[in-house]
Amino acid sequence: MRTNTPALAPDEKINWLASIPYFGVHLMCLWVFYTGARLVDVLVCLALYVIRMWGITAGYHRYFSHRAYKTNRVFQFILAFVGTTATQKGVLWWAAHHRHHHRESDGEKDIHSPIQKGFWWSHMNWILCDKYAETKYDSIKDFARFPELRFLNRFYLLPPIALAVSLYFIGGFSLLIWGFFVSTTLLWHGTFTINSLSHIFGKRRYRTTDTSKNNFLLALITLGEGWHNNHHYHQNTANQGWFWWEVDFSFYSLKVLSWLRIVSDLRLPSDSIKYSYKKYTPEQQAELNAPISFWGAVAARKQAAGDKVREAIATAADHLPTAAPSPTALLKRK
Ligand SMILES: [Zn+2]
Ligand SMILES: [Zn+2]
Repeated sequence: MRTNTPALAPDEKINWLASIPYFGVHLMCLWVFYTGARLVDVLVCLALYVIRMWGITAGYHRYFSHRAYKTNRVFQFILAFVGTTATQKGVLWWAAHHRHHHRESDGEKDIHSPIQKGFWWSHMNWILCDKYAETKYDSIKDFARFPELRFLNRFYLLPPIALAVSLYFIGGFSLLIWGFFVSTTLLWHGTFTINSLSHIFGKRRYRTTDTSKNNFLLALITLGEGWHNNHHYHQNTANQGWFWWEVDFSFYSLKVLSWLRIVSDLRLPSDSIKYSYKKYTPEQQAELNAPISFWGAVAARKQAAGDKVREAIATAADHLPTAAPSPTALLKRK
């Protein structure tokens, strides 16, 4: 899918050398044609997908990025550790960049907006360039004060490597391929859909300044993150599915953990937030339902960029002589 992306700065281009491990993990999946698939391999692959997706949604996202509930320091570390096994860099790196996404969502400064720089940029290219490689500690001071989290953030490759090595020793090469490489590749792209597809496909219930959508299928594969329009409308809630039919497995698990007193103070949306869409005027409602909202936003961005260029040309033209002197006039001057 091309969205006529603007030119990228040098530090926004894919760093192919540094991205070898990323593409290498994808290529390793091809070994499945050699190993075949035992039932246990596929079950472990799926189980590790779900457990690590949970580490990302309940941990990296809802706890570390949004502080949507409270927990003790030991469980906080467990959340960070499980999230780190998902191989999506360190917990502080992830949460700090995510907070930035919410501050700027789909604006010019948004880190991974499909509106601004196209589908592949929002899906993965923003991670593969140098621009966003460092942790923005300023945006995550509240958690950066814990030394154990700083350690995990710095040595974020240790948990995934430990997982891969354990799988090899427990179940041999085929468990390593399915349990780590296939599962991690699926997990990456499952997670990335929230930055790319859920800003493009789905329905909008709430008026937000971005193009976030609610999408049932994406909610299923991300344990509840697909209710992205709800989330962008009010980001600090422990649940992202706000109505009974909006499945949200991460929230169900947090609810159980709250009964066990492992987590507490789950933040929920008030009724005035949840039902605010009922107060929209028919025009506002029609605007929400407009199927072109993503392409409309891309067109608006291109129009705005075009206007800027035209304005610059017009300003420059004002400073030019109205017409170049004709060669005969130049000759006459002699
Ligand atoms: Zn978003
Ligand atoms: Zn968020």
